[in-house]
Amino acid sequence: MPRTDVLLADPRVVAAGDRLGRDLVKAAVTAVQQRVRDGGLAAEAAVDAVVAALPASAASLHRVLNATGVLVHTNLGRAPWSAAAVDAVVAASGTTDVELDLATGRRGPRGEGAIGALLDAVPAAEAAIVVNNCAAALALVATCLGGELVVARGELVEIGDGFRIPDLLVSTGARLHEVGTTNRVTLADYTAAVDSDTGAVLKVHPSNFVVRGFTRSVEVEELVGIGVPVVADVGSGLLRPHPALPDEPDLQSTLAAGADLVLASGDKLLGGPQAGLVLGRADLVQRLRRHPLYRALRVDKTTLAALEATLRGPVPPVHRMLGTTTGELRARAEAVVAALGGQAQVDVQVVESSARVGGGGAPEFELPSVALSLPAACAEPLRHGSPPVVGYVADGRTLLDLRSLDPADDGALVGAVRACR
Ligand SMILES: *Cc1c(COP(=O)(O)O)cnc(C)c1O
Repeated sequence: MPRTDVLLADPRVVAAGDRLGRDLVKAAVTAVQQRVRDGGLAAEAAVDAVVAALPASAASLHRVLNATGVLVHTNLGRAPWSAAAVDAVVAASGTTDVELDLATGRRGPRGEGAIGALLDAVPAAEAAIVVNNCAAALALVATCLGGELVVARGELVEIGDGFRIPDLLVSTGARLHEVGTTNRVTLADYTAAVDSDTGAVLKVHPSNFVVRGFTRSVEVEELVGIGVPVVADVGSGLLRPHPALPDEPDLQSTLAAGADLVLASGDKLLGGPQAGLVLGRADLVQRLRRHPLYRALRVDKTTLAALEATLRGPVPPVHRMLGTTTGELRARAEAVVAALGGQAQVDVQVVESSARVGGGGAPEFELPSVALSLPAACAEPLRHGSPPVVGYVADGRTLLDLRSLDPADDGALVGAVRACR
């Protein structure tokens, strides 16, 4: 039996310990010793087996190539960050001037850079704050402005994984005054519901579904002047209208239409870090910021850094992916096939496909796309590859969609397909 101290003293194992910490290395050593004890491994092969068994990093989250064709995929961590956001986070991850004014040496306002970038991007907003996510923004608004929140029945949505916005709102102690029916609500419904107990009228973008047919909803414009704050949760985090997504609400247009506050997720269409963005009237934003709950929901230095860099830096990956033409996607797919140079062990074809925005945005909107088509049996080995590649299976084939994949990862895709047999 190879001794623990001997295995731990091997230079390769020592080097791994510096990177991964002692506990992970020790666990790998113990597991390998057990394999030797069980007779499944020769003692001489133990060090190699320890090195092979070590995890790539001290965290269990892996880099995964998103070939699902869903640009903002919740199971894959929603928006990939821009390189500028990654750099900003690395800089902020040590000690940083998040609440210090280096010019005076005094305490400075927290998150000023990110807030300034948000206000520059959404000129219709007087003020803004950033909290952990859009659910946190809703909780803060409901706690601070509730009493009673007037909401249309057709907007009481479940956003996924069993999370229901009405349950979240009620959990804060706010009361809901539901108006209209599932398919129809009128301005008169809202007007009749507003009274001295009303804290706000809340409009929630239904995000991941549409109601069609005999429907009617009331737009923000019509609600202006109803006598209480109008709060719009647009969900998607689109800053301004996007030509590729004409039906998706955006922060600037919603405020310009007269909303007092607008809420959104930073990691949906904005394409940045997880964050809840609250923009609008200065007095209301100040009330939210002064509420004790704000302290429990505010974001850390790395989120502020990533958000500011996403807003000020180059176009984030999600927006690049939205804007890529099918001609570019086809050229990339054909380059991958050419790079395989006949070395693929499986049948690979370039096919037309259909991608989606994801993240609860534009549920019916299909983006024409291009994919590699492989045998269905490839899905599993691709998922177990290094890095793992996640596509989807349709009509008996594994499809790897190029639109949701960073072009910088096309080379890794070549390797993954080559390893697939
Ligand atoms: C996604 C979404 C939320 C929740 O946002 P998180 O940032 O995931 O907390 C809230 N409201 C709407 C309309 C959404 O689409």
